[in-house]
Amino acid sequence: MSENNPHQAGRHFLQIPGPSNVPDRVLRAIAQPTIDHRGPEFAQLTLGVLDKLGAVFNTKSPIFIFPASGTGGWESSLLNTLSPGDKVLAFETGHFATLWKNVATKLGLEVIWVEGDWRQGIDAAVVQQHLLEDQSHIIKAVLAVHTETSSGATSDIAKIRKAIDAVEHPALFMVDAVSSLACTELRHDEWGIDVTISASQKGLMLPPGLCFNAVSEKALAASKTSTFPHSYWSWGSMLELNKKGYFPYTPSTNLLYGLDEALDMLHDEGMDNVFARHSRLAHATQLAVAGWGLENLCVNPEEYSNSTTAVLMPQGHDADALRNIILEKFNMSLGMGLGKVKGTVFRIGHIGDFNELMMAGTLSGVEMGLSLAGVPHTKGGVNAALEFLADTA
Ligand SMILES: *Cc1c(COP(=O)(O)O)cnc(C)c1O
Repeated sequence: MSENNPHQAGRHFLQIPGPSNVPDRVLRAIAQPTIDHRGPEFAQLTLGVLDKLGAVFNTKSPIFIFPASGTGGWESSLLNTLSPGDKVLAFETGHFATLWKNVATKLGLEVIWVEGDWRQGIDAAVVQQHLLEDQSHIIKAVLAVHTETSSGATSDIAKIRKAIDAVEHPALFMVDAVSSLACTELRHDEWGIDVTISASQKGLMLPPGLCFNAVSEKALAASKTSTFPHSYWSWGSMLELNKKGYFPYTPSTNLLYGLDEALDMLHDEGMDNVFARHSRLAHATQLAVAGWGLENLCVNPEEYSNSTTAVLMPQGHDADALRNIILEKFNMSLGMGLGKVKGTVFRIGHIGDFNELMMAGTLSGVEMGLSLAGVPHTKGGVNAALEFLADTA
């Protein structure tokens, strides 16, 4: 709602790369009456949710659900497995990698920080080189962001696993899949990930408020010797109570209703179809950006993410001014440039519950906004996207 225009008809377009649009089915599920979280009905809910979640993470290992944002997932991954002063290896892919590093530093870990330009994913060869040089195995964990939501670059997690194995390094492998889960394939078990971190408000189509840690046997074993103090984030008490469908403290009951519904939707559509849909809509967006003659922040097309596209503004033009015009005129929110790309980048989210016409509307709003904001561009980016969507329908 803008100042001059108190009522705006129709739906707001929430095209930020998370929180994503929450489907009506999920909203209705969340609206059910809250039940006793120590009663029998609740145990059925938890056990069902944990079972269905395993198929999304592709794991048979435990998945812990905390009532928290994704940042809590980072914190619990580190606190449960490591000890004060431990060294971890992390890569500056962008804003989220930087925030995770900051959490590690504040907790008292020593981060070996591989700097980057925020325009590409993690180079597996660089991972391998760092681990090769660490002959005495002082590095206890490798932290990797799967899809760096600030740049729209997705790293090849399977390839990084291979790099770790190639030098037989025993470090734990932790992956932030907050904006990739249920948008891009992720195979927790097969890729030998020790902790996969995710959250509710992106590909899982829920409001913010839940975070996840999927953990391997190796991570669970590490949690037995970790000396960080933790209480709220403890996996141990979660593991015991989850087995019977309960939690050590009051869980987010209504978000779990929503999660159950969202998982049914994903499984009904089929995970491969979900990934293909995201990839196709992402490709339509990439065609539109190229058609406008604008530059994708991510420099490697093979790393373009399924979840979001970060677009560089032409020199001298402010991304936030463009976003404000689009919000004001067309009631659409686009993602802002985060951290050091603030003002120079805007992000188009294509994540979660999302289809062709939503994509077409989103891209149309951007193209109209570019004109209104006086941003130099070529007309017809939307047409290129529409042609592709029609040809591949
Ligand atoms: C959204 C996001 C997070 C989580 O952020 P919160 O605001 O704490 O929920 C973490 N990592 C990535 C890559 C994200 O996109």
